[in-house]
Amino acid sequence: MVMEKLGDSLQGALKKLIGAGRIDERTVNEVVKDIQRALLQADVNVKLVMGMSQRIKERAMKEDPPAGMNPREHVIRIVYQELMEIIGKGADIQLKPQTIMMVGLQGSGKTTSAAKLARYFQRKGLKAGVVAADTFRPGAYHQLKTLSEKLNVGFYGEEGNPDAVEITIHGLKALEKYDIKIVDTAGRHALEADLIEEMERIHAVAKPDHKFMVLDAGIGQQASQQAHAFNDSVGITGVIITKLDGTAKGGGALSAVSETKAPIAFIGVGETPEDFEKFEADRFISRLLG
Ligand code: GDP
Repeated sequence: MVMEKLGDSLQGALKKLIGAGRIDERTVNEVVKDIQRALLQADVNVKLVMGMSQRIKERAMKEDPPAGMNPREHVIRIVYQELMEIIGKGADIQLKPQTIMMVGLQGSGKTTSAAKLARYFQRKGLKAGVVAADTFRPGAYHQLKTLSEKLNVGFYGEEGNPDAVEITIHGLKALEKYDIKIVDTAGRHALEADLIEEMERIHAVAKPDHKFMVLDAGIGQQASQQAHAFNDSVGITGVIITKLDGTAKGGGALSAVSETKAPIAFIGVGETPEDFEKFEADRFISRLLG
């Protein structure tokens, strides 16, 4: 289940609405306080939480419920809409030929997600292949090669060649006949100048349609700094949040998404290639709110 703990707390908060005799300012304030606590515990940015609480309170007291909706349903709808404001509507992923560049720090789940993504498009009937341009992490080449063979998607890599830009050029040529070309780039342990420089050089030769930033759900408030750095260097068009199946709080990653306005494209919910979903905001929030 995605972000189970946050879901439980939010559901608990909304239950108070159902249990309340009538919906007055005191009840709304209490519910908002519970929602605040739940979001802060899940590591959502304080400013976002405060803004959202304020809007829920104002709207719940000022707006009349639409015809046919009782005051309880109305408040729940407002909470839903305000969560949607933070999380965003999700990226528009088209099923057409395209080049996708993966960026993110080491360990975020970038290589795994590159293979999962190829699998996703392949299942939709598109011919997909990956380019192993992560020349920094030992093992990334073999990991991607093995995964690609297992999933029966295209693969290009040059074991031992440290030049990621060269590999990208060769790889895109080798995968010319593929509809979907996914370039896995190197992460680093931190945001270093040479990482950013390499991103930009790969970006210049790959001319990708999409730049997906891979974020580990457990990253916390550092997510924001990373998102800004990658966004400034190559322009993020979508975010993949991984490890949402774990105990991670996920709110830091969600806050970064809200700040950079880069929509969430996919979520990783486990280690196997099938544990990957196109992000649907409606479904995600419905799951959170139970
Ligand atoms: P990279 O350094 O960013 O390329 O990271 P990897 O793709 O090697 O992933 C790092 C670890 O995270 C691996 O053990 C993956 O199996 C694991 N991983 C990736 N995505 C997910 C996910 O959605 N859920 C879980 N539980 N583990 C994941």
